[in-house]
Amino acid sequence: MIYDLVIVGGGPAGATLASLLNKNIKALLIEGDGAEKTCGGLLSPDAQEFLARLGRTLPSDVLVDPQIFSVRTIDLHTKKECTYFRNYLNMRRKAFDDWMLSFIPAHIETIKGVVNSIEALPSGFLLTCRKDGTQTQIRTRKLVGADGAGSIVRRTFFPPLETEELVAFQQWFPASDESQPPLYTALFDKKTSTACSWTIQKGEHVLFGGIFPKDHTRQRFEEQKEKLRSVGFEFRRPMRSEGCKVLKPRSQKSFQCGSHNIFLIGEAAGFISPSSFEGISYAMKSAYYLSESLKTPNPSQSYFKMTTGLRNRLLLKLFKARVMYSPMLRSLALQTGLTGISPIE
Ligand SMILES: Cc1cc2nc3c(=O)[nH]c(=O)nc-3n(C[C@H](O)[C@H](O)[C@H](O)COP(=O)(O)OP(=O)(O)OC[C@H]3O[C@@H](n4cnc5c(N)ncnc54)[C@H](O)[C@@H]3O)c2cc1C
Repeated sequence: MIYDLVIVGGGPAGATLASLLNKNIKALLIEGDGAEKTCGGLLSPDAQEFLARLGRTLPSDVLVDPQIFSVRTIDLHTKKECTYFRNYLNMRRKAFDDWMLSFIPAHIETIKGVVNSIEALPSGFLLTCRKDGTQTQIRTRKLVGADGAGSIVRRTFFPPLETEELVAFQQWFPASDESQPPLYTALFDKKTSTACSWTIQKGEHVLFGGIFPKDHTRQRFEEQKEKLRSVGFEFRRPMRSEGCKVLKPRSQKSFQCGSHNIFLIGEAAGFISPSSFEGISYAMKSAYYLSESLKTPNPSQSYFKMTTGLRNRLLLKLFKARVMYSPMLRSLALQTGLTGISPIE
């Protein structure tokens, strides 16, 4: 048996694509191992708008208390801070991914498994996949990598992306009773990080995480934790720690859409914001563009064209990232309170 299309990865990109494929395509989605993702679990306005276009309404059990409308932004080095209005939705990330998978129609086959190798054949591809402890071989004519930043599909067929390689690390803590609102903070510290960190309350828990250079990640994280304590944050014993690789875009060559019968969507293609590290909206949009491109005679060319706006938008965000992550410009922005809100006592 040979599939027309196999999608590797059942995150927002793979799930969106599988839910939008034409009925006549014999497709399989390989979901992955279902491990928890290192993620802030915030649904951006762009992602909300895209869900609106798909006609999907988010069930309340995907959301988690509290819904926070302001982000307290603190520079841990200068101690300057400002509060900004934000309209993200606070979610349980795993519940969101499961909800996205629930839209996959019955005619698309899905399996839980991990692809460990891929071979190009004259007529398509041969995938070796570990499923229920055994190795299975799967043949397909077209292949979609929706398998996130570490994509095996991208690594097998394309050179490494020209990105800044960073590491995300975060810990979950029981929420302290004395926690004070607002419980959503964005943190900067030029000594320990070239990117940003965050604390977000999620129900009974508080998440503290950040994106750091690859060297001494854990040490940098712990140093930030100490600095946070010095500005009044309390952390009890962590309940869970998690981490992952982050590929921060830095040029046109930070993206790879694929070629011939191989397509990359979502973070596998490098689609993640270099400023906020928001990626769910790009995952869903790129999946939609691919579903439309697959209806055309030259899907590769069409997909590359359709994602031009998306790639340009990410490149524009590089300028925002330069301001946010420049200690001098950030200090100026926090001091002037530009676009900030003034809390009422
Ligand atoms: C620290 C951090 C915080 C973030 N916070 C946010 C946020 O708050 N809001 C937001 O919008 N974005 C956030 N992002 C970005 C967002 O998580 C990703 O951009 C988004 O999940 C990308 O979706 P995707 O479907 O492309 O990939 P993923 O969500 O990574 O899904 C890839 C899937 O592929 C599967 N897979 C991987 N390898 C294989 C394999 N070999 N075989 C089979 N399956 C495989 C995995 O199990 C996974 O399910 C954050 C990223 C980081 C690093």
